[in-house]
Amino acid sequence: MEVTEPAQRCPACRARIGVAEVCSRCGTDFSIVRRAERQAQVLAGLAVQQLVLGQTEQAAASAKAASALADAPLARAVSRLLIQFPHQ
Ligand SMILES: [Zn+2]
Repeated sequence: MEVTEPAQRCPACRARIGVAEVCSRCGTDFSIVRRAERQAQVLAGLAVQQLVLGQTEQAAASAKAASALADAPLARAVSRLLIQFPHQ
């Protein structure tokens, strides 16, 4: 699944970094941040699968874990859905 991300800037020097793991201007390493973002995407996808299977408690846990790692809009959507339709 291709995800379009907005152009990001290095928080240290404001250079455009896009999805790079290391800032080409100042050398700040974002690899841990990128790893957390990827893991959050995986967990958000898992939350959706669990939701589809009716595993609402697991879906809530996966969505919460995803949101704790990084900003994950898909995980937020799952959490909102579970709040609206609890314990199906
Ligand atoms: Zn930088």
